[in-house]
Amino acid sequence: MPNTTPIPWTDVTWNPTRGCSAAAPGCHYCYATRYAHRFSGPGQPYEGLVTSTPTSHPRWTGNVQLLPTRLLQPLHWRKPRRIFICSLSDLFHQGVPDTFIRDVCRTITLTPHHTYQLLTKRPERAQALFRNQQWLDGLELDADISTHARLVWPLPNLWLGASASTQHDLNHIIPPLLNAPATIRFISFEPLLGPVDTDTRPCPHGCADQAPDRSGPDRGKPPYCGVDGCDMETPGRIPFTLERIHWVIAGGESGGTANRALVKPCPRLRWDTHARGRDPSITCDHCHDTRWIPKTEALAWVSSLRDQCTTAGIPFFFKGWGGPTQQAAGDLLDGQQYHELPTQVSRRYETVTDV
Ligand code: SF4
Ligand SMILES: [Zn+2]
Ligand SMILES: [Zn+2]
Repeated sequence: MPNTTPIPWTDVTWNPTRGCSAAAPGCHYCYATRYAHRFSGPGQPYEGLVTSTPTSHPRWTGNVQLLPTRLLQPLHWRKPRRIFICSLSDLFHQGVPDTFIRDVCRTITLTPHHTYQLLTKRPERAQALFRNQQWLDGLELDADISTHARLVWPLPNLWLGASASTQHDLNHIIPPLLNAPATIRFISFEPLLGPVDTDTRPCPHGCADQAPDRSGPDRGKPPYCGVDGCDMETPGRIPFTLERIHWVIAGGESGGTANRALVKPCPRLRWDTHARGRDPSITCDHCHDTRWIPKTEALAWVSSLRDQCTTAGIPFFFKGWGGPTQQAAGDLLDGQQYHELPTQVSRRYETVTDV
């Protein structure tokens, strides 16, 4: 049986590796470590992969376990599914050998009826490996032997995604993500920890930090170097190209600290209208009785991201506000649920489920 999951943008998870280590600020309250910690006693699957003290959030030890017996699992799943690869780890972690990643890709080539979602915090390794001819030759050989068909590259049924929590993360993940060969590319802003601008990023030549010294109409603006679009139009910044990004996911952190959370307690709690014994026919119009509401700035960050996607024509999936639990404050943005998927693929899904 496939592993069903509460993650709303996928159907099942597939975890051929165990263990990881933090790669970015978004990893700080990694939910996988909380899961792993429950099964880390002597003789249990996560023994040696995670540590904790009574007062600290569990941490990965950095050890990674490969589970080759799971490599062929998706071959037994007949129904077409969206499969989230390594939902509890990172396939591009340095502890996973290139050959094992090739084995995972081999399974993907053998199961064209499935769609795979591969999300990483290490897109630079995805870029290096997916452009490595020697590694690809090995995959091609595997595909020839198993399917007697030529390898289609990039794999048509693989979506490659990278995670970002902040603008700083985004500036780093965009270049390798765009340079990695992939049919569908996506960005996951989970957990979202700050405002993000997907239109421009600081010029790598530091133009924005140089003293404005020009006269005329641009007086007071940062200077520009004229490279990669850092010009009179956008001095000190260069445009991102979201044209080759096909999907954006966003969501708040759950189980982290209050200052990182996108939600705050409903202000009505102070007036005790939620207290036991109040009229059960009255629903709080702030929080709809969830007791949590989005922080003002978080509402602005998520709405702006949604608007940036709308302008760029990119499907937007809002997973939820997070908080003490993933669904504490629900997943409505301006009263609406955003569960959009890359169009090409949702069309394909309709046809697949029709037959
Ligand atoms: S990369 Fe993913 S699994 Fe690994 S520590 Fe970060 S959030 Fe957790
Ligand atoms: Zn510049
Ligand atoms: Zn309320």
